[in-house]
Amino acid sequence: MKFGGTSVASADRVKRVARLIKSHSKDNEIVVVASAIKGVTDDLIQISESVRKGSKTDVEKFIDRFKKLHMDMAKTSMTKEKTRKELRNVLNVVIKELEDVLNGMVLLGEVTPKSQDYLLSFGERLTTSILSYALKDIGISTESLTGKNTGIITDSNYGEAKPLMDTTKLRVSNKIIPMLRNGTVPVVTGFVGADQNGNLTTLGRGGSDYTATIIASCINADEVWLWTDVDGLMTADPRIVKNAKVLKEVSYAEAMEMALFGAKYMHPRALEPILDKGIPTRIRNTFKSENNGTQVLKNPKINTRQIVKSVSMIRNTALIDVRGGSMVGVPGIAAKIFDIMGKNNINIMMISQSPSESSISMVVSKNDLDSAVNSLELSLLGKVIKTINVTDNVAIIAAVGSGMRGIKGVASRIFGAIAKHDVNVMMIAQGSSELNLAFVVNDKDCEEAVRALHEEFELSKIE
Ligand code: ASP
Ligand code: MG
Repeated sequence: MKFGGTSVASADRVKRVARLIKSHSKDNEIVVVASAIKGVTDDLIQISESVRKGSKTDVEKFIDRFKKLHMDMAKTSMTKEKTRKELRNVLNVVIKELEDVLNGMVLLGEVTPKSQDYLLSFGERLTTSILSYALKDIGISTESLTGKNTGIITDSNYGEAKPLMDTTKLRVSNKIIPMLRNGTVPVVTGFVGADQNGNLTTLGRGGSDYTATIIASCINADEVWLWTDVDGLMTADPRIVKNAKVLKEVSYAEAMEMALFGAKYMHPRALEPILDKGIPTRIRNTFKSENNGTQVLKNPKINTRQIVKSVSMIRNTALIDVRGGSMVGVPGIAAKIFDIMGKNNINIMMISQSPSESSISMVVSKNDLDSAVNSLELSLLGKVIKTINVTDNVAIIAAVGSGMRGIKGVASRIFGAIAKHDVNVMMIAQGSSELNLAFVVNDKDCEEAVRALHEEFELSKIE
């Protein structure tokens, strides 16, 4: 069971989570994975900015705030004085370490990817201790572990580390299975692992889901439950479409397409470790634990005959269009363009090329836009590329559903509905898996476009 950042965001919530774990632990062996308190990872990333600027007072203020947040929570989430005291001692040690790390970084005035990962690990380390003591407080035998102590070994690609599954499998099963046999509930930091030299690494934003599936795969778990603050994967973001519905069952492939966009953001590789074994995964709401949520399965049983199952969007993106007469019919141009983007660490979210070959369009996150345009200009402008056009403020809309495969007329329904709402389409891409049809619109039109498609495919009536 993995609990997201909102599920552990207050003392009451921690208590609720502890009771939830206790009630399920009667008939099950449970491994718990916890995220940092919502917003804490963002704060830690932000404070590394202050470190870069050498702003000592900002860092001091941050430490005070950080300490208070966790200490206050720790105080009110325990009922017994004994556990409260023990937890306080544990937290003091971890927070002291955080202070040392931050002070060291300020002295150096430097944030390396390695030190940043070390810093980011503190969010998860603190919630894991708090949650573990909350379990102790209500009589559950438990132990809190970092991803490193659990045995999650990764490569050294800080900030976006990947598990080395062979080693990890051996270590995690050796560590976790005896604990379960002993009746101990391991509470593990999400998001955090360590490389082969023992340096802490992180798995990328939203990486706690990934931690859960890595462990599940290592110990051959029966199921993975991702507890979050929404009811599951939905037909659309309910903040945009009022009558959006929870999907009861989706396939792994569909879930991976939806996870990137939807109300429940999931780490893009989160389902990878459990695909082979087909371990069923549930997305459930901590605050409405009576609901079943969404089940993610290899082969969903419910045949809804639904062509499109969900409509989602990614905002804060920009469209880059590169053109040049000498791009036509010359092999290797696309490779050059993408090579430069890759070398500069720019993630391309969508690509399309017209058959005339005179232009290639791609969508990147707005954060990457400057660096993308700069590197293209430096390396290719005036050579193979003649012009680079940028459209800021676009959004990707994606219609997802395995029922689209081989069905005629889906595209026509999609674009017909969009046209009826007077929204202009700037770029289109569909993979040949036909699982996902994505297009780009002006950001100001994106909510309208989502609602139009939700209505066209009658997703509010989905079973
Ligand atoms: N705390 C990390 C993040 O905010 C990992 C997670 O929440 O899954 O990205
Ligand atoms: Mg999270």
